[in-house]
Amino acid sequence: MRSIDRHIVADATRRLVRARREKQLTGLYPLEHLYVFITMRCNAKCDHCFCWEDLNVGIPEMTLPQLERIADTITPLEMICFSGGEPTLRRDLVDVLGLFGARGKAKCLKINTNGLNPGRIEEIAVRFKEAHPGVGLEFQFSLDGLEETHDRIRGVPGNFRKVLESMRRVKELGARFPALAGGALTVVTSLNYRELVALNDRLREEIGPDVGHGFELMRDVATTAWSLHPDAAESGVGPKNMELPPREAFAEIAEAYRLILRRSPILANAFYLHNLAQLRAVETGREQIKCVTAGQSVGVLYSNGDVAACEFTKPFANLATHDFDFMALWNSDAANQRRAQLGKCYCIHGCYMGKSVEMSWGGIAAMTKTALTGG
Ligand code: SF4
Ligand code: SF4
Repeated sequence: MRSIDRHIVADATRRLVRARREKQLTGLYPLEHLYVFITMRCNAKCDHCFCWEDLNVGIPEMTLPQLERIADTITPLEMICFSGGEPTLRRDLVDVLGLFGARGKAKCLKINTNGLNPGRIEEIAVRFKEAHPGVGLEFQFSLDGLEETHDRIRGVPGNFRKVLESMRRVKELGARFPALAGGALTVVTSLNYRELVALNDRLREEIGPDVGHGFELMRDVATTAWSLHPDAAESGVGPKNMELPPREAFAEIAEAYRLILRRSPILANAFYLHNLAQLRAVETGREQIKCVTAGQSVGVLYSNGDVAACEFTKPFANLATHDFDFMALWNSDAANQRRAQLGKCYCIHGCYMGKSVEMSWGGIAAMTKTALTGG
C-alpha cells in the first residue's frame, strides 16, 4: 500500500475510534465537518445548482462580529468548508477565514468556488497564507465538463478558461506556501457524463498528473433522497434545469470513476466509494450507506445564521436564538429533536455519504481494500 494511503487509513481509523468513544459518552458523534454557506450571492447561473432559488434574492449574511462569536464557541473541527453562493464574492472572506484560522478551529479551511476570478482567488490565497501559514487552505474548483459543456452548464462564457487559470495560480502558489491546495469537483449530470475521462485528461495536462479530481452525482431532494421525515424534509433543494444521467449509462460512469481513481495519488478514497454507492442508490432506490453523520459529525450553517443537519432537511434553529454560540445551539433541544427525525432517511448527498464511509469499520475496510487492489 502506498504511504499516503496508509496515512489516510490510519487517520480515519484514529478518528473513528475517537468518535465511537465520544458517541458512547455523549450519545453523539463529534462534529468534524461544517459547511458554511457564507453568502447566497453568486455570479454564475448553473443549470444544476441545487440552491438556485435562494441566489441573489437578498438573503442576509452574518456579520464579522457574529462569525467571531461562532469561531469563539465552536469546537475544533477537521474541516470548515465555505460555500454558497460564490464565497469569494464576500469582500471580507479572508477576515472570515482568519477568525477560524487564528483560533485553531479547523485543520483545513476549504473554499468551494466557481473560479471565475483568478485574481481574487490568488489574493485570498496569498493574504490568508501569509497571515496563517500553518493552517491548511484548500480550494475546490467546480469543473463540469470540457470547455463548451462547462460554459453551457454554468451559463457563463469563458468560465472554463478562467477556472483553469485559477487552478494554475493556486498550484503555483502551492510551491511557495505549505498546506495550500486546489482540486476540481465535477457534478455528474445528463450533459457531461460522457466527458469525465476526457476532462480528467485535460486537467492532468493543464494542472499536472497529481491533480485532485472528485465527482458528485447531481443533488435533487425529489429524486435522490428517500424516506425523509415529513417535518424535516426541505422540499426546495433541486436543480434549475438539469437531469441525472440515464440509468443505462451508470456502468460506464462507474468505469470512468475507476479509471480516474487508478490515476490519482490517493486510492484509499472514501469519496470514490460513495460515488459508486450513489449510482447504486439511484439505480435501485435502496439505501447503500447508513447516514450516521448528518447533525452529528457534519452540519450546515447558512448565511443568515440558520443551522441544519444537512441540506436536504430544514434548518432547525437560527443562531440568533443562542447569541451565536454554536455549540449551545448544536447541543440544544431543537437540534436533538431534529436528530431524532433522521434515523430512517437515506440519500446520495456526498458530504454525508463520504463521511459515513469513514464512520464505519466496514467503510474503513473498503477504503483499505481499494488502496490494496487499486479500485
Ligand atoms: S452551483 Fe455554485 S456557482 Fe453555480 S449558480 Fe449555484 S451557487 Fe453559483
Ligand atoms: S444527509 Fe442523511 S439525514 Fe440528510 S437527507 Fe441524507 S440521509 Fe437523511
